[in-house]
Amino acid sequence: MAQKFVRALSAFCLIPLASAVSAATLPDYQTGSDWYTESADRLEERAALSREAKTAKNVILFVGDGMGISTLTAARILEGQLVGESGEENALSFEEFPHTALIKTYNTNQQTPDSAGTMTAMMTGVKTRAGVINIDGDAQRADCASSEGKELNSFLEMVESRGKATGIISTARLTHATPAATYSRSPERNWEYSAEGDCSDIASQMVELSAGDGIDVMLGGGRRNFVTTDADGKREDGRDLTNEWLERYEGEQTAVYVESGSDLAGVDLSNTDKLLGLFTSSHMSYDADRINKESDEPSIAEMTDTAIELLEKDSDGYFLMVESGRIDHGHHAGNAYNALHDTIAFADAVQVALDKVSLEDTLILVTADHSHVMTIAGYPTRGNPILGKVVENDSSGAAEAEVDTASDGMPYTTLSYANGLGFADLGENTDADERYDIAADTGRKDLSDVDTEVPGFHQEALVHLESESHAGEDISLHAIGAGAELVQGSLEQNAVFHVMTAATDLSLTED
Ligand SMILES: [Zn+2]
Repeated sequence: MAQKFVRALSAFCLIPLASAVSAATLPDYQTGSDWYTESADRLEERAALSREAKTAKNVILFVGDGMGISTLTAARILEGQLVGESGEENALSFEEFPHTALIKTYNTNQQTPDSAGTMTAMMTGVKTRAGVINIDGDAQRADCASSEGKELNSFLEMVESRGKATGIISTARLTHATPAATYSRSPERNWEYSAEGDCSDIASQMVELSAGDGIDVMLGGGRRNFVTTDADGKREDGRDLTNEWLERYEGEQTAVYVESGSDLAGVDLSNTDKLLGLFTSSHMSYDADRINKESDEPSIAEMTDTAIELLEKDSDGYFLMVESGRIDHGHHAGNAYNALHDTIAFADAVQVALDKVSLEDTLILVTADHSHVMTIAGYPTRGNPILGKVVENDSSGAAEAEVDTASDGMPYTTLSYANGLGFADLGENTDADERYDIAADTGRKDLSDVDTEVPGFHQEALVHLESESHAGEDISLHAIGAGAELVQGSLEQNAVFHVMTAATDLSLTED
């Protein structure tokens, strides 16, 4: 009550003040401000880009796994700070796209979703339950019999069966939930190399896809799910799926299988029809770790470049899905450093696509599947290192900025997690997964003498969980190119499928 009264009073008191300057026009120092002109120019550019609607021959769907909006904000600041800017004004490549929508991510049975249910929504136009891949939500998870007759067809299969080319890229295992939802059906996302009942494992579905002539380009991690236990793999059925895949095309098309970044760079794409690259046994390295350890793995940008080069050879057009799978894993480990560096590498891959394709006939979509519980907190001063401790301005601007302390007398970082394993200081270690080898350490820590900007710093977490969790708030969808104008407002996640089918003019129903 009291607050309402104060607000009403101050509004009343403003009237005589406002009349001192004419409210009908804007003063020069306002319209001449950089803030003013830069935003006005940007809006005009975006309006020009969106004026003409066209049909998309090609669709590229970029999915940053776990790339919630706080991740976008923090990654854009870090990217700017890495080149000496204050960071806040920076924009990741796709943040310049003219069309954006908010996406509601829940699964049919969960308020906060998992990647299997969310990618099923994007690939089939239908939401389903967590943990299942391209199976309707009426079926039970991990119950093969209940999934019978409830299989859903994916956008990739539709595109492939209409004679277009298709490709998938992931920095996670190619059998992991997000890429798996482009090509497989499984009542259990964990059936990556073996399944129960009459169901097939996910890896075998990838190499055997019957739509069209199978997926044309597949680049990522997860080799162990395609080879036998004798070859350091997981398969106990004696099958070597990489050989079976090569045999499938023998005498008909030129199929090439590679296992390293240097082999990929050496592929003669003009003489290649089908390309399979399995670069690591499990997930590919975090991008910072890949660089740090000089691992012979291609970057996500290099994989994107190669895939587009090959897919462009099909004059009918193509669909390419590119997943940055490890943004999610950095967060699960409670390590913002890797989550943000992988987000920047992901934005670089989007830039590669932007530079290569014609937006006259190509739709580029960039989105996430769900968010994470990382927050950007406190009142850090402008340009404060995003991975650093909160340093506050004196609000009058008169005094030097200084490290802020909480009520417990200790400093705190701008980025922290609501839950997870909590604080760890692994120094220069760029492999966030090693966090899991150390006992949980949640709650407040004295960070006075800790460098929080090193790769191995793991942020504090309030609530102890064995793995930091996904978050339930909306994520974003960014679009540019043919059909991009369909992306606006607040959408359900399954609308991503409908945006792609509408933009490409595919007829969806059986004749
Ligand atoms: Zn996750």
